[in-house]
Amino acid sequence: MKSYFIKEKDFNLFVKKMIESKKVVGPVAKKKKFVFANLKNAADLRLDFDVTILPPKKEFFPTCQMLIKFDGSKFESGVHSEEKILFGVHFYDIKGIDMTDHLFNENNSDCNYLTNREKTTIVGSNIQNVAPRSFWGTIGKDLKPKGHDAFLTKIQDGYVFQTLTDKGEALIKFGTFGAAADAQVQEADRVNDSVMSQCPEKLQHSSKDIAKKVRGSFKNKELWASAAKDCFSCGSCNIVCPTCYCFDIQDKWNVDQKTGSRARYWDACLTKEFAEISMGEGKSENFREERGARFRHRIMRKAAYQTEKLGSPACVGCGRCSNACTADIADPVNVINRIMEEPV
Ligand code: SF4
Ligand code: SF4
Repeated sequence: MKSYFIKEKDFNLFVKKMIESKKVVGPVAKKKKFVFANLKNAADLRLDFDVTILPPKKEFFPTCQMLIKFDGSKFESGVHSEEKILFGVHFYDIKGIDMTDHLFNENNSDCNYLTNREKTTIVGSNIQNVAPRSFWGTIGKDLKPKGHDAFLTKIQDGYVFQTLTDKGEALIKFGTFGAAADAQVQEADRVNDSVMSQCPEKLQHSSKDIAKKVRGSFKNKELWASAAKDCFSCGSCNIVCPTCYCFDIQDKWNVDQKTGSRARYWDACLTKEFAEISMGEGKSENFREERGARFRHRIMRKAAYQTEKLGSPACVGCGRCSNACTADIADPVNVINRIMEEPV
């Protein structure tokens, strides 16, 4: 790792030069909220964002992704990835990307995701404002963020910019960087450490204890039915989540019945149709028909099933689901704390 420093007054020029060189995606304001979007001007970059509406995974795994176009027996790939810089990613979203990297890489690796992922340089940034429903300070603390190429921390009079890979190091040429002094690196460490205690929501137990207790509550039908009582089955909690990765494949045929395309769309396990499968002869079966069963599945995935595989819960504490849920029942902190209070 190399540590550089860039002065506040030189920072916008650095971003401008990057934008002139390739596509740069970063947090920008959208009314009172924030989204990751293509940066057109350096001044649009809002590193003071608290959390974005959708996580940055959409840069590798778009909400709708054309996979192939076909014509009779011929077909061509519909995935055309381009080199880009994903700039200003908070550490919890870096963890989320690391998890989707793992999940799209295991067994049959998903080239449609990986092609986009490999062409992206990821630059993290420190959290300047804490989102109202976040709890990243108390979940998965043992798992360190990894997979990014550089990390930027705002300190007095400028930024410490730490490069971790060749792709990160390649950005140095765009700015007026000097070597960071030890005191500046220590200040950056202090800035990143001190924010960890500022989340408004907190989990009280270790990931291991949570995984065990949540798993043990699987058969408590009453608990799950009660937790999901007000659920609209809208799937918003899945759609905004950085670690959800389910998709639906749809083929579209043109009127000639010869040409067409295949695309995939984000899917959500909280919706009623998600687990409905064809049984042939016009019949179907839904293996998670009850709201409680769907709600349980989401919490099991986040807090229990994936913990061994990922070394941490499949929840990074961003709080997006809590913000997105109209019924205000999706917040993992409330659900987990309730489960932890249940008698064994
Ligand atoms: S479950 Fe909610 S808080 Fe956890 S990572 Fe997903 S959206 Fe964020
Ligand atoms: S966002 Fe809330 S209401 Fe919608 S599916 Fe999730 S838990 Fe149910």
